[in-house]
Amino acid sequence: MSEHILLTPGPTPLPPSVRAKMAEPILHHRTQEFAQVFQRVLAGMQQVFRTKSQTLMLTTSGTGAMESAVANLLSPGDRALVHSTGAFGNRFVKILKAYGIEPMVIFEEWGEAAQPQRLKALLNASPGFKVVFFQHTDTSTGVLNDIETLSRTVRENSDALVVVDTVSGLAAERFETDSWGVDVALTGSQKGLMNAPGLAFAAVSEKAWTACGTAKLPRFYLDWRTMRDSLPQKETPYTPAVSLVVAQAEALRLILKEGLDNVVNRTRELALYTRTEVTNRLGLRLFAKDPAHILTAAWLPEGADGDALLKNLLTEERISIANGQEKLKGKIIRIAHMGYISKSDVQAGLSALERRLKTLIGAVRSRS
Ligand SMILES: *Cc1c(COP(=O)(O)O)cnc(C)c1O
Repeated sequence: MSEHILLTPGPTPLPPSVRAKMAEPILHHRTQEFAQVFQRVLAGMQQVFRTKSQTLMLTTSGTGAMESAVANLLSPGDRALVHSTGAFGNRFVKILKAYGIEPMVIFEEWGEAAQPQRLKALLNASPGFKVVFFQHTDTSTGVLNDIETLSRTVRENSDALVVVDTVSGLAAERFETDSWGVDVALTGSQKGLMNAPGLAFAAVSEKAWTACGTAKLPRFYLDWRTMRDSLPQKETPYTPAVSLVVAQAEALRLILKEGLDNVVNRTRELALYTRTEVTNRLGLRLFAKDPAHILTAAWLPEGADGDALLKNLLTEERISIANGQEKLKGKIIRIAHMGYISKSDVQAGLSALERRLKTLIGAVRSRS
């Protein structure tokens, strides 16, 4: 069997009907047939983002959508703020620096959510930000940020645009683009959206379109204006990942048929189950103080070789569990429960982990 169980926070496993769509003959992207599928995907994404704003599709991974927000909203010398809760907040910082913008950054302790009071204090002490960047869920720590409150804090204390990376949060946690006042919401295809990696989406408010019209940073492939100009023809400016678009239409059909609220509830139930099992059965300590339902992050026992553990799980049990990122590599594990991940997948992962941990803890004890 070449199949293995993916419990990683992207890519996530795919429903069989989504996989089957990718095996269909390729459509040409300048045809009526493709135009219809593309329209369905954009309309479905508006429902999932809960927005009336124009939604754009990009053939890139999620990071491309993050980069597009930087390139389309800012000009040289503009002030930007990143409220970082982990590795993906730090990615916004790296992108901004690559474009010559030196952002201000609020760094939260990894595992803790973005604090609205800290944001409010900084917005008042240092006025004039053009854009404030957030993660809805920071996948590196499994933290959930209260975007509704953070977005309101930005609006009440500045004129800045609110940009939210919900690559791992969308279609897994509750997210309301319009009613929360989010100007730009960004996501990717390979997590809650139950598709293969390679597509990204951006919902762009009127205020953000105005900023886009005057922004002076260089942009070409990621220019939102060329994407918008192609929409009346129901086209994309360049060749899109046609097979992924067809698959995304099917995945969106499944999500909307189940109902977004039901998807969020199912994810939450799986998260609560996993958290209980990880603490009670495996005896591990949870990592995030403000946990999202997209994944469970837990500390490995002191002295355990996390890299070896995860490698063994993959090669001997054919189960993919994610390692920690950056400073948490080898120290924590991350078990995802978003998208098409099922309870039986999680149960298989927990059982394998339990077996491996016994051996591992035995080895740590006999060494000390
Ligand atoms: C996965 C992810 C991204 C995008 O990563 P890509 O590998 O470029 O798709 C961005 N932000 C968060 C929070 C993510 O989890």
